[in-house]
Amino acid sequence: MTNPLPTGATIGILGGGQLGRMLSVAASRLGLRTHIYEPGANPPAADVAHAVTTAPYEDAEALTAFARAVDLVTYEFENIPTEALDIIEAITPIHPNRRALGTSQDRLVEKQFLESIGLKVAPYADITDAASLDAALNKIGTPSILKTRRFGYDGKGQSRLASPEDAATALADMSGAPAVLEGFITFTAEISIIAARNPQGEVACYDPGENIHRNGILHTTDVPARIPASLRTDAVLLAAKILNTLDYVGVMGVELFVTPQGLIVNEIAPRVHNSGHWTQNGCTVDQFEQHIRAISGWPLGDGTRHSDVIMENLIGNDVDRVPQLAREANCAIHLYGKVETKTGRKMGHVNRIKT
Ligand code: AMP
Repeated sequence: MTNPLPTGATIGILGGGQLGRMLSVAASRLGLRTHIYEPGANPPAADVAHAVTTAPYEDAEALTAFARAVDLVTYEFENIPTEALDIIEAITPIHPNRRALGTSQDRLVEKQFLESIGLKVAPYADITDAASLDAALNKIGTPSILKTRRFGYDGKGQSRLASPEDAATALADMSGAPAVLEGFITFTAEISIIAARNPQGEVACYDPGENIHRNGILHTTDVPARIPASLRTDAVLLAAKILNTLDYVGVMGVELFVTPQGLIVNEIAPRVHNSGHWTQNGCTVDQFEQHIRAISGWPLGDGTRHSDVIMENLIGNDVDRVPQLAREANCAIHLYGKVETKTGRKMGHVNRIKT
């Protein structure tokens, strides 16, 4: 795409969760519309989008009508069936591209890609059965983590092995799905870097944030991460390398382990990322607007951090604290409009400006 999307153009978004909701708000600020495609009823993004299609990803007719109604398509999650993408791509462009999506959908392909461009990943092995797990345990040892190659998120589809005796249980946890065994990394911190690239090849990165997880779910992102300047530069350079190699267009989240030997890439997410929510109150142009700008062929915005921020996710009953949070100074509340509170469900987040 050479011409920027004009006012009134419509961006199709696959997935109607909170990321789709915040992307829609950002698009509307730039005079653009969004059309959400989501199988579930009343998704969070529907409240703020111009149009919504409620249909499964297997509905070729609905996908065709959706693709014809929009100027381009993006997505807010990785696990979109290939067949759905084939139907859409025959009609309208998809950003980020299929290679980026295919790479991040499969942990094995992702690690092979990252290694092929000279980046460090945890020791890993392809696991298909008990014999391959045995062989991998001999090589990688324990502690280690068995992860499904596809469809994992928020620590789901993972099983930790403290000793080789845990092999059978870990394999059973995968329910026959192809998996990878990963050596356990002793990290000093987990950080992530949110990077963006537009079709013109401009790249912009936000400051890396330091992430704390609870029960496998992101709890807080603290910005700036407490890392030396040299590692910050390493993070920017490796993110740019990933985006350039994939000819990527859009925002990407890159999760990294900080170790005494340098940065190790945990995973990449070809979309706006929970660990980038701090940008809403820490930067002039946040990750959501940056993604819309990138896929719309606009110049990238200024992602300089003007404030130090700590983002805290409101998960499950945390949302009951909103009345108190609403009285806190320097605390920006972002709620996703989810009516039903469930354990482990991301209900919203707050960005506290550090003063
Ligand atoms: P993931 O779904 O791969 O992002 O894993 C969820 C969380 O589990 C990460 O954020 C880490 O805290 C932890 N984790 C995953 N893989 C490893 C690893 N190879 N070594 C140490 N910790 C890990």
